[in-house]
Amino acid sequence: CAVVGVYNADTAASVAYYSLFSMQHRGQEASGISSSTGEKLITIKDRGLVTAVFGDDKLKKLKGRSAVGHNRYSTAGEDSILDAQPVFARYDLGEIAIVHNGNLTNAKQIREDLIQKGAIFQSFMDTENLIHLIAKSQKEKLIDRIIDAVHKIEGAYSLIFLSRKKMFAIRDPHGFRPLSLGRIKNSDGSFGYMVASETCAFDLVGAEYIRDVEPGEMLVFEAEGEPRSYKIFEKQPRPCIFEFVYFARPDSRVFGHNVYEVRKNMGQELAREKPIEADMVIPVPDSGVAAAIGYARESGIPFELGIVRNHYVGRTFIEPTQQSRELKVKLKLNPIKELIQGKRLIVIDDSIVRGTTSRQIVRILRAAGAKEVHMKISSPPTISPCYYGVDTPDKSQLICANMTLEETCRFIEADSLSFLSLEGLRRSIQCDERELFCQACFDGKYIV
Ligand code: 5GP
Ligand code: SF4
Ligand code: MG
Repeated sequence: CAVVGVYNADTAASVAYYSLFSMQHRGQEASGISSSTGEKLITIKDRGLVTAVFGDDKLKKLKGRSAVGHNRYSTAGEDSILDAQPVFARYDLGEIAIVHNGNLTNAKQIREDLIQKGAIFQSFMDTENLIHLIAKSQKEKLIDRIIDAVHKIEGAYSLIFLSRKKMFAIRDPHGFRPLSLGRIKNSDGSFGYMVASETCAFDLVGAEYIRDVEPGEMLVFEAEGEPRSYKIFEKQPRPCIFEFVYFARPDSRVFGHNVYEVRKNMGQELAREKPIEADMVIPVPDSGVAAAIGYARESGIPFELGIVRNHYVGRTFIEPTQQSRELKVKLKLNPIKELIQGKRLIVIDDSIVRGTTSRQIVRILRAAGAKEVHMKISSPPTISPCYYGVDTPDKSQLICANMTLEETCRFIEADSLSFLSLEGLRRSIQCDERELFCQACFDGKYIV
């Protein structure tokens, strides 16, 4: 998912809107914004893309100088309007809207416990737990209730809370999902503040990146002036390595590293680890482009855009059934026949999940006359599902968890198949040796 919070800024809702638009890749199922007029919160949310949910007239209704927004990508809950965010509620202290990127690992226990005690839920979202935890806390002030509530939850969360007067942003102690702080200049010269999942949002709305919200940190935005920082958990950073592989936009700066640079390095590492003779290197657009550039540069084999992408088709894995996913690959990708006919191809993609994309690609390349197709993946085999906010299917559907390398290669019908090693992936980030990441989908070692 994508989250954004805007505080004390001119046209806050429109800043939130453009931010969500720039982060559409993080979730395409539903979108929503809550704004605060200072007196009340206004919420508009629906299923669909950002542009479909908010026409001009709708944005105008979202008055006020603060707003939170969300793009949904279902990892917990169901694909229904009830599961769109922000989650909004009225309670004894007033009104609150919450947006959440991540996935709470103890949501089920908390929910059962709350239901036992008489709570009623509207949605299947783990985020709804937070409303109840905040409403039930015995503390007097909202800030203390939020702190209370987040001490009861576990798992991955980058959270933003908006009340009528204040905004709070929190990253879980491991900092699984990204969250960055920026500021934006108002027409009177004062500054408003922003938090967003990715820094590409700041670029679009003309905000200035300040720093990342730290794992275990809470920022409180109140009246004028800079946000106040509270360390509410001991830091144990384990940011998600898959943000670099696939999830984040290449023009974003995530966990202190530019995503494009990291992806290019991944391609270079892959060329060093898994060399092979071929006539050209072609990416699976868009997710394989940066790594293919790196691979071509390192190997000296020419880079070509051998597959053209139709940009009016979104991310294919979001499709609910296997059949519709297969059709969508065809709709989305088409090879350039004249270019690849009779050629030995190295095809670069970022990851193999179910194997659907890779197999379809190999098939369309062969049908277009490719002589050899060598599939190279710029991450290790995905062998375990993610419980921290990325929608990988369960283990039974992960092809690399159920087949050997040779079997997977045969399944996708390629001449050869190879993956980047986990060490190679780490090297690509060029981080400090002691820097730890979550890499559970690649090594099965879960942190929470
Ligand atoms: P496959 O056809 O192997 O299931 O899909 C793999 C492709 O889907 C990758 O090339 C990648 O672009 C994209 N993908 C990236 N992240 C995810 C994810 O979290 N879940 C799924 N299913 N696919 C993803
Ligand atoms: Fe990221 Fe994989 Fe960890 Fe999930 S399991 S947080 S996708 S590294
Ligand atoms: Mg892809």
